Amino acid sequence: MKAGAAEALSAGEHQGAERALDVERVREDFPILKQKVHGKPLVYLDNAATSQKPVTVIEAEERFYREYNSNIHRGVHQLSERATKAYEDARVKIQHFLNAGEAREIVFVRGTTEAINLVAAAYGRKNVQAGDEILITAMEHHSNIVPWQILCEEKGARLRVAPVNDRGEMIFEEFEKLLNSRTRLVSVTHVSNVLGTINPVREIVEAAHRMNVPVLVDGAQAAPHLKVDVRELDCDLYAMSSHKIFGPTGIGVLYGKARLLEAMPPYQGGGDMISSVSFEKTIYNVIPYKFEAGTPNIAATIGLGAAIDYINQLGLDNVAAYEHELLEYATEALSGIPGVRMVGTARQKASVISFVLDGIHAHDVGTVLDQEGIDSKCRPPRGPRWPSIIRRRRSTGWWRASKR
Ligand code: PLP
Repeated sequence: MKAGAAEALSAGEHQGAERALDVERVREDFPILKQKVHGKPLVYLDNAATSQKPVTVIEAEERFYREYNSNIHRGVHQLSERATKAYEDARVKIQHFLNAGEAREIVFVRGTTEAINLVAAAYGRKNVQAGDEILITAMEHHSNIVPWQILCEEKGARLRVAPVNDRGEMIFEEFEKLLNSRTRLVSVTHVSNVLGTINPVREIVEAAHRMNVPVLVDGAQAAPHLKVDVRELDCDLYAMSSHKIFGPTGIGVLYGKARLLEAMPPYQGGGDMISSVSFEKTIYNVIPYKFEAGTPNIAATIGLGAAIDYINQLGLDNVAAYEHELLEYATEALSGIPGVRMVGTARQKASVISFVLDGIHAHDVGTVLDQEGIDSKCRPPRGPRWPSIIRRRRSTGWWRASKR
């Protein structure tokens, strides 16, 4: 990592968030932010869709291809040993990032979407029968809806949906009412990508465990903003994407409690997920390799490791404190604009802002903002919970200074 951002942090250790995170210096770590769009300095607010990459992540991937590109877990030559070490080091970094008990509880996948599909396919194949139920909430991303619909359709099971209130908070009593002896899995988002709502995952897990139901948490939007501690949450499975935490695309993580992962059948068959193969019988590899069939995205995994290093040096607490400040600033500023209606006002909220601009289509707003050099997510409604409103979503990136 370049000296800039890390030094900037230590200077502000005991001061306010603005001091702890010298945003102008952090911006220097992101080459893409140096450009102009339509002649204006780029302001990137579409972090909920994907984050930009610091130079250390870009360089880690490049170094792999320039210096030690080779396959992992199979060659005894030096390049392969180096690649295997870097790949497995990334697993340990993620283990610590999520505070998982063991590195073998970290499975590399393509992203949150694949992590959820893996659980639906592997856990669902073994444990879900006709008449069983999967319980989600009304604020889920499509990635945490459609895999369950596919599973339910195949198995004759039923998808149950816990409702949310007008603030965008899950109604806990309704969730508890939907938990029953037919529930086979609860799958909830930690932070809503549209509303910013932070779900009470610890309480959700406690309620589900009282019914012996395992819980999968979609952490795609939580990992960039909150310190995630899977042991503290006591969730059984946790999914996240690298590209939302400054890492490369095409790589993500499924954390799973070792006992649960061991009991799940494989997701895909192929190389690396086996310990021996014959035409009569195949013995599967131990976890996590049982779920990592074929040559993985080695370069991106190493890039993810570099992204974790980068976040650790900034300090997720510093990032969270600064984002909170930005969230309050932006919420107040937007609320004062006539015709703007905020969507998602949960009491526990991460830095995702959605709003509706009365009488103006989302695409028009997006076009006008783009002319100002501002990248944000603009789209009409597609989710089931907010059918009649036009959504405007912005995610405040922590490198965006509040004065700009
Ligand atoms: N879950 C949530 C809450 C998300 O916001 C997203 C992406 O925006 C996903 C899942 C899917 O993540 P990915 O596309 O990285 O698999």
